[in-house]
Amino acid sequence: MPDTRYIFVTGGVASSLGKGIISASLAKLLQARGYKVTIQKLDPYLNVDPGTLNPYEHGECYVTEDGAETDLDLGHYERFLNVPTSQANNVTTGRIYRDVIEKERRGDYLGKTVQIIPHVTDEIKRNIKLLGSKKNFDVVITEIGGTVGDIESLPYIESVRQLKWELGSRAMVIHLTLVPYLAASGELKTKPTQHSVKQLLENGVQPDVLVLRTEKELSPDIRKKVALFCNVDSRAVIQSIDVSTIYEVPVKMQEEGLDEIVLEKLSLPINQKPELKEWKLFLSKMKNAKKSVKIALVGKYVELTDSYKSIIEALIHAATYHEHKAEINLIQSESITPENVVEKLGNMQGILVAPGFGHRGVEGKLVAVKFARETNIPFFGICLGMQCAVIELARNVLGIEKADSTEMDYTTPNPVIDLMEGQKNVTDKGGTMRLGVYDCKIKKGSLAHNAYKTELVKERHRHRYEFNNEYLSAIEKAGMTATGINPETGLVEIVEIPSHRWFVGVQFHPEYSSTVLKPHPVFMSFVSAAINNEQSN
Ligand code: GLN
Repeated sequence: MPDTRYIFVTGGVASSLGKGIISASLAKLLQARGYKVTIQKLDPYLNVDPGTLNPYEHGECYVTEDGAETDLDLGHYERFLNVPTSQANNVTTGRIYRDVIEKERRGDYLGKTVQIIPHVTDEIKRNIKLLGSKKNFDVVITEIGGTVGDIESLPYIESVRQLKWELGSRAMVIHLTLVPYLAASGELKTKPTQHSVKQLLENGVQPDVLVLRTEKELSPDIRKKVALFCNVDSRAVIQSIDVSTIYEVPVKMQEEGLDEIVLEKLSLPINQKPELKEWKLFLSKMKNAKKSVKIALVGKYVELTDSYKSIIEALIHAATYHEHKAEINLIQSESITPENVVEKLGNMQGILVAPGFGHRGVEGKLVAVKFARETNIPFFGICLGMQCAVIELARNVLGIEKADSTEMDYTTPNPVIDLMEGQKNVTDKGGTMRLGVYDCKIKKGSLAHNAYKTELVKERHRHRYEFNNEYLSAIEKAGMTATGINPETGLVEIVEIPSHRWFVGVQFHPEYSSTVLKPHPVFMSFVSAAINNEQSN
């Protein structure tokens, strides 16, 4: 689209201020005004994608429908906007450099000396503009990862400078900073913001709007002061005060007039203020929920909730629509033993066993599955969690003691979970799993069918191992049914135990597609079963 507008969101003073949430909230407000908006994240690290990053390093890896392994902020974008993202929505320095070097090897640069400016910056600019030109977006919001002043971010800031120059009023910069509160003197301090804007100015970029994260209300005087020192309108100094849920941020940003000032700067019509009816209804359900539902989330990365971001959000969405608070108990799977399982999981209304890789913590996950199966507590296994459900049943119901996944024990004589055929010759780790959306045919009468209310669904995947169909008939005889199958390959995608109150394992990742306005049906069904669980407290 020739007149796509570009909004760049940079950050200063500290990391983790929530650029992703501010970007998603602004996008939501513009979308509510009828604009076609998308968000893109530029990550300044050298990994080609975050797929090879340990969740401890960078939180969850979010998978798009087209099979890209991306930054978890893309999850926020989808949850807020209800519009799928794609590979083009996440670009890393690793990918930029790889593409530049590939072009150099092909001879595309015709003998020129290849340099950060213009070759790397041109490649960054090309990636930024790709979304606008290919998909006809009215507005592309580009979030620049990292903090202004980082060596790694420099080529991105330089690209922003160039684009701002080239695009004129079709581009603008929002800079997010922190205004710390000094308890000792009882003051809010603006100096870090001033310095951070100076840093941007040194790189040739004048921000148009400042969003200030703060724990206390900013007085008009503080706003005026920041405006004066940073060359922005005082109306363009926006307060982002701490709130109890990220889903409140769009409403707060609307109150602050962020969307209006942005439209004004981009010379776009402002029109009527949207009501955000459904969004506010969700928020009021969330705030007014009196009862809570206790869910155990059993995983091995529990020290960092970002590792299970989408699962936690999907549980919150579902609980909210059932007018309950999600009380999510993150339980370290390594700490669960047959001796302490009652103490750890006994008073849970539902047990969710998380995805994961490698053998660490798997034994504890198997104990959790066994406990859920035997005590009739609603159980939801996702990816590795589903694979654990199969291994547990094979071992403890079928009596196949050595049943395992070849991921955990390469030499097992009973690989009930085995490496997928297509994975057998794969040696590279990056971007080589079974990724993205695949069809799944659902058996009528199953819990899954009851939840989805349709016989064909598409869900996102990220795995190398699968249910070994050689064991299917034995496992079905033992009481576990395959209720979801990939129609092309016959891969088992869903298993259930019909005699159980609610026991479902899914090979795919339903959590990636749960959004605020469209909670995921299987999460809805799981949480409802957990709420109805008579064993609840
Ligand atoms: N490690 C398992 C596999 O690769 C499960 C992956 C996951 O839980 N995302 O198949």
